[in-house]
Amino acid sequence: MDSNIDFMPPRLRSRPRAGRREGASRPMGRIAGSSSVRRSRRGERRVSLTVLKEPPPRRSGRPLQPRRRPLGRWRALALIAVHILILLHVVHWLTAERTMAPVVLSNAMKTLELGQINPAFVLFCILILTTLLFGRFFCGWACHMAALQDLCLWILRKFGLRPAPFRARLLPWIPVFLALYMFAWPTFRREALAPLLERVWPAGLAWIGPVQPFPGWSALWTTTEMWSGLPNALVAIPFLLVCGFATVYFLGARGFCNYGCPYGGIFKPVSKLAPGRIIVDPDKCDACGMCTANCTSGVRVLDDLRVGGAVTDSRCVRTLDCVMVCPQNALKFRFKKPSSQGARNAAPQGQAGAAKPKRDVTLSEELILLVFFLLTLFILRGLYDIFPLLFAVGIAICALPIGWKLLRLTEDDNVRLHRFQLRRAGRLRPAGFAFIALSALGAGLLAQGGLVRFHTWRASMYDDRVTVSRDLVFDLSAGVPEEQRRAAAGALAHYRRASGWRSGGIGLTDTPSNDVRIAWLSMTLRDLPGAESAMERALSRAPETDAVVVGLAEIILLQGRHEVAIERLREAVEANPRLHESQEMLAALYFRSGRLDEGIGRLLTAQKLRPQDASIPHRLAIALSQRGRTDEALVHLERAAELEPDAAALRYAIGAQMLDAAGRASEARVWRLRSLQASGDRR
Ligand code: SF4
Ligand code: SF4
Repeated sequence: MDSNIDFMPPRLRSRPRAGRREGASRPMGRIAGSSSVRRSRRGERRVSLTVLKEPPPRRSGRPLQPRRRPLGRWRALALIAVHILILLHVVHWLTAERTMAPVVLSNAMKTLELGQINPAFVLFCILILTTLLFGRFFCGWACHMAALQDLCLWILRKFGLRPAPFRARLLPWIPVFLALYMFAWPTFRREALAPLLERVWPAGLAWIGPVQPFPGWSALWTTTEMWSGLPNALVAIPFLLVCGFATVYFLGARGFCNYGCPYGGIFKPVSKLAPGRIIVDPDKCDACGMCTANCTSGVRVLDDLRVGGAVTDSRCVRTLDCVMVCPQNALKFRFKKPSSQGARNAAPQGQAGAAKPKRDVTLSEELILLVFFLLTLFILRGLYDIFPLLFAVGIAICALPIGWKLLRLTEDDNVRLHRFQLRRAGRLRPAGFAFIALSALGAGLLAQGGLVRFHTWRASMYDDRVTVSRDLVFDLSAGVPEEQRRAAAGALAHYRRASGWRSGGIGLTDTPSNDVRIAWLSMTLRDLPGAESAMERALSRAPETDAVVVGLAEIILLQGRHEVAIERLREAVEANPRLHESQEMLAALYFRSGRLDEGIGRLLTAQKLRPQDASIPHRLAIALSQRGRTDEALVHLERAAELEPDAAALRYAIGAQMLDAAGRASEARVWRLRSLQASGDRR
């Protein structure tokens, strides 16, 4: 059976599709499942073309023209405005050091998981409420991922590519599954699953990962570390390419929104309840199909109108393009119930409401693809510390149509991927060979990633049994219990196997978080050079991580190389002055080696990064007093007393001692009195 034949020359295929017949997911002339192939007596293959029905006669008699242009430009302006706001936020952070906490929707997870109320959570609540009223306007008009996909679609069209939507029935539930995983699973795991396992099967706790108790409610409105938790450019650029171009190319204009966005997974069901919707005037609509042809979300607008008189598909992101282009002005955005008649003229006589959604894949194919998706996601998420959840989701959803085409290649005589003919008349074409070769390469890389994940998982099972304290690990004269040493050795073996090939493992590259564990376990086994080289590897991949820099310096110090530790810290903070823990440690090492001025400079930088930390002005005051700069020292002591009123008495007493040492006895008496007063206030 020929399932996918394109008879149109490429020149015509790239023409605008306005006015295309409803239900045709490809340009006219391409026949889906309706042509037949016969052989003549001489054995020649003959293809008979389906005769397409004429569209219903147009009542107005006018040629079919959009009434007005779609709102693409206005939407582009709205999205540009959103990006300007994001840019202003970043500029404010760079100039003022402290700014509003990032308004990234993924941060809303922290409210449920960690009890941290932040601007992202507030925005999320507002969006849910507005979606409940108006539908998914945010997705169409303000989401940066929508902007990215619109931009990619525009670029692909410039190259003559017109991605068709991938239609399935089970797979569009993936975003809902992701939303539950992101927003409900952490709370469910902590509040229900972990207590249950603890009672009935304690060994099962190892399978659900570490569970932290709820830390209580807190608020985080401003931050000095706006970028923490956001990907760096090396991850962000491939992420944008995959979630922009690849998803649009393989899944259609809003591929990521429809198949991968977890926030969409929440907005979709909520928008079903929204009273604000696009409804049709059944007396005006004449079933021309222009609404469907202009919907970039892949909504079969006319089918929806036929069934219920309104757009009910939850993929509708209220771009209002269908409203604008309707030649009969039959569509409106309204807060009222649609006509119960539906779009009478939109359905052929006697078949109103009979439109059935068409799917690209069968149910059994969808089940196979769903398993494939879950496997890909499980392997990729967090692999090599490169793939954050949404990046892994982007790749996994692109794998769906690729897997589907591979399935089709095993069954159909003719298979096409956009403009590439993969198989024709039962024979693989060069594009088909290339497609299979690339797919095999991808599957091989995935299998290798699976092995890396397996060893990381085995390592973590051993690692969970290593419970030695930090004091014991850093006290080289103390002995480590034999059972702990065995668990550490087991974990190390698997972590090393999961490392990059340059470090003797099977992976493509090293994983910084694994390297940090290798360093810790090596310290447990008293292998300091091994610990140092693992930390160096982690630092080369994650130079912006404070804990890694400080950890490396501590390991070097344990080997008695004080100056080397100073040098490594200095390099790190010069490359990234925002590493406040490294700044503080470097200051401490400078003080220890008598380089007071350099230490004071580092502490002043650290103070800018953590202005609410009382210990920094305290240490600054002591260093300044040692340099004979008593007045400056007193200013910092005042600041420390202000930040930590409970310790104010101690700080005033220290100030009095400094003044005594400077020979300013009368001022010292005043500070002593203040100290007494502060301790009296406390009592
Ligand atoms: S609502 Fe009816 S008349 Fe308007 S574009 Fe759609 S099919 Fe055509
Ligand atoms: S159905 Fe209409 S409003 Fe909804 S996404 Fe499609 S074109 Fe936009």
